[in-house]
Amino acid sequence: MNMQKASTMKLVKTIEEIRSQVAAWRKEGLSIGFVPTMGYLHEGHQSLIRKSREQNDRTVVSVFVNPMQFAPNEDFEAYPRDMAHDMAAVEEAGGDIIFNPEPSEMYPSHFTSFIDTTETTELLCGAVRPIHFRGVCTVVGKLFNIVCPDRAYFGQKDAQQLATIRRFARDLNFPVEIVACPIVRESDGLAKSSRNTYLSPAERQAATILSRSLELGRKAIENGERTPGKVIDLITASLKSEPLARVDYVEVVDFENIQRVERIEGSILVAIAVYIGKTRLIDNFIINL
Ligand code: AMP
Repeated sequence: MNMQKASTMKLVKTIEEIRSQVAAWRKEGLSIGFVPTMGYLHEGHQSLIRKSREQNDRTVVSVFVNPMQFAPNEDFEAYPRDMAHDMAAVEEAGGDIIFNPEPSEMYPSHFTSFIDTTETTELLCGAVRPIHFRGVCTVVGKLFNIVCPDRAYFGQKDAQQLATIRRFARDLNFPVEIVACPIVRESDGLAKSSRNTYLSPAERQAATILSRSLELGRKAIENGERTPGKVIDLITASLKSEPLARVDYVEVVDFENIQRVERIEGSILVAIAVYIGKTRLIDNFIINL
């Protein structure tokens, strides 16, 4: 990414400004793509922006570290932020405008309405981060109502989030097409994440255990393994071979409903969350049988 020259990317802070820009584009008959992010953008985010640019006339990128989706013991304060970097990254990927509201713009006092989901948020991150998806769905629903995009782009990196957003967009009739984008990885397999910046050099090395362990699981399934417990045990044992890793969960679920399955068939999500030191990383693969 070329971070040398100052970006001329347009950045707006208020709901009124982004609404009036989108309304002006709509008046010209232009289609709108939307990429919601928490910033500190990397090539994973840029792949979503590129896809949106391909499929729409204009692309809005939101950069908002959403306090509502972080529990008090989580990393809201420490979450990396760098708007100059993000402006250059959006420009490079072909985005048209950044919406970067303050928390007070999104959550006025006496904010008391939420989007709550069941089923797809019972397991995986929903089980270990109980308030997380209420925060994600509420902010994404608000952003959909603010930006009114034709299409919105989400990474398979956050597969449970993707399944959950698809569900509430359908259930609550948001007139937006949800487009899924594949996981972008570092050359050694580590899924790109803004949180990778927390890793020390030794931890960064250790973090490759996530994708390597998932690969073992994938190979076992490709070779005919159909029992979820066997795949879970194989992946767990591999993760435990890394002294810096502490397993949060390893799960095999159906990708649509995010429920456990008795047998591996159909569209299956194999998802893991692992602490490397103090940093919690997630990764997954989806296999269709
Ligand atoms: P975040 O800023 O982490 O909330 O992510 C914003 C969007 O980018 C979400 O839809 C993520 O799934 C997506 N994303 C994050 N990392 C990756 C990646 N490595 N590959 C593809 N998409 C990603």
